[in-house]
Amino acid sequence: MGTKQRIFSPLPPDLSLEELVPNDSFYRRLEARLDLSFVRELVSPLYARGGRPSVDPVVFFKLQLVMFFEGIRSERQLMRVVADRLSLRWYLGYDLFEPLPDHSSLTRIRERFGVAVFRRFFERTVEECAEAGLVWGKELFFDATKVGANAAVDSLVPRWAVEAHLEDLFDGEGSDAGEPEGTTHLAETLPSADDEKLTAANATESDWVSRGGKQDRSVRSGSYQRISDTRASKTDPDATPMRYGGEKLRLGYHVHYVVDGGRSRVVLNALVTSSEVMEQQPMLHDLLWRTAFRLGLWPRRVTGDAAYGTRANIAAVERAGIRAYVNLKERGNPDKRFFPPSLFAYNEERDLFRCPAGRELTPWNSGDSREGTRYKAKTKVCAACLLKPRCTPNKRGRTVFRHFDEGYVDRVRAYRETEPYQKALRKRKVWVEPLFAEAKDWHGMRRFRLRTLEKVNMEALLIASGQNVKRLLDFGGRGPKRPAQAAALRRPAAAIHEISRTQEHRWSRSWRPTRAFFNKLEYLRRYGYPPNQRIGVHAPMRTSLPLCGCGRSRPETAGGVCGRLTGS
Ligand code: SF4
Repeated sequence: MGTKQRIFSPLPPDLSLEELVPNDSFYRRLEARLDLSFVRELVSPLYARGGRPSVDPVVFFKLQLVMFFEGIRSERQLMRVVADRLSLRWYLGYDLFEPLPDHSSLTRIRERFGVAVFRRFFERTVEECAEAGLVWGKELFFDATKVGANAAVDSLVPRWAVEAHLEDLFDGEGSDAGEPEGTTHLAETLPSADDEKLTAANATESDWVSRGGKQDRSVRSGSYQRISDTRASKTDPDATPMRYGGEKLRLGYHVHYVVDGGRSRVVLNALVTSSEVMEQQPMLHDLLWRTAFRLGLWPRRVTGDAAYGTRANIAAVERAGIRAYVNLKERGNPDKRFFPPSLFAYNEERDLFRCPAGRELTPWNSGDSREGTRYKAKTKVCAACLLKPRCTPNKRGRTVFRHFDEGYVDRVRAYRETEPYQKALRKRKVWVEPLFAEAKDWHGMRRFRLRTLEKVNMEALLIASGQNVKRLLDFGGRGPKRPAQAAALRRPAAAIHEISRTQEHRWSRSWRPTRAFFNKLEYLRRYGYPPNQRIGVHAPMRTSLPLCGCGRSRPETAGGVCGRLTGS
């Protein structure tokens, strides 16, 4: 058995850190691939001229990335690891004996930068991915996951007590700036607030990003009151009670991701909101439009689960010419004794419903016509109907309500039978959900280490940035690594039923007689007589030739036909 002698010779004076760090070190690759010098320009308005030299903002963001890659959950631990690792010192640009920044400086710098700088940093990683050709942009996936807060349920107390306590603590702080909540000092990088029209228009929109993901507690839905409206945590006032996967009540947040449908699976947007903010709420303005406008994308389709399938979301997306591949939550039948509305077939051309007895329900505007139209059968028709006991107890007959945007929902219902829709939903499961699993299992997103919405937004944006940097370093345009992802991209075996090939299939088989029929019509239109009466030389258009034996007068268009061909 050997015994290792502990002998440490002094380092030769000509040995530098550059030689000590292996050439294949991960941090060498990271340094070569990702230039962070842009952050100096980004944060320069936040620094005063003169004074003591500060920690370089590039070093700060490099340390944040080291935290992400090493799975470290505290700044104190981070600086201990950096002090021990040559490759990390090399990456940060600190020589062997150069003193490293103190861990407490990192906390202060993070607070100075605020969430706006972290968001801009994240967006820059997305831009880098786009420049590297990793963003496809034609298909966007939406998903959200619940993440635990760094606070226990036992810390819940009445909300008024927490708010009074916080008001006492921060009395007067920040009021001199006169800034609206959620803004930062980066006036140059944000739209001007002088534009009154823009301000008025924005005030009418619910914008979760500028509110930092905060719930508007002044808005109530009837008499319903959320637990989080009355109770708040003393430890993290923004964390709200949530329950998932059969677990007991805990405090947490909702993390929303928009992921590109390209092979690299780049995270295009990330937002943390209170846990009671449902998936569909920030979908349009904060996630879809923001992502599309910032990156100049015009997606062909967006995919999400049933939580995103609200009528408002579907209508807005479809109106923009984007296909909404979302699961639909069909409304159940509230009263099982009577026919559900789904048994009433809507005829779009004639704008009426046909009931199970085959009778017509025509538009019958009533008080709620601002939302849609109510359709009704004639009272005497319903009164004489044998199915009435199963249809309605109303003496005046059955009515059916149709929302003005229901046509868009019908369109999404029609997508459900198509292969592209099925494929998009299959792909969603192996495209977005593994990204959350990666963030939770490898990068500490199972439970946030920071507290309050602003800080957890910074933490989530940094994790999403790190995930993008990983793609930038590793993916490089290669195919997906996991078999399930590769399978989701493949065409199914029964490709003959795919919608894109259906037309070709039907054209070549079952529609052949129809094609001959239309060819014949075209011949008639051009020459004025059917092909079997051809006389060798093209005669001029014979406008007086009786084309049909159906007894109708000659069609109005020159050379036109009524379509029956009985006289040919
Ligand atoms: S009661 Fe009226 S609406 Fe209902 S099935 Fe009979 S005719 Fe149709």
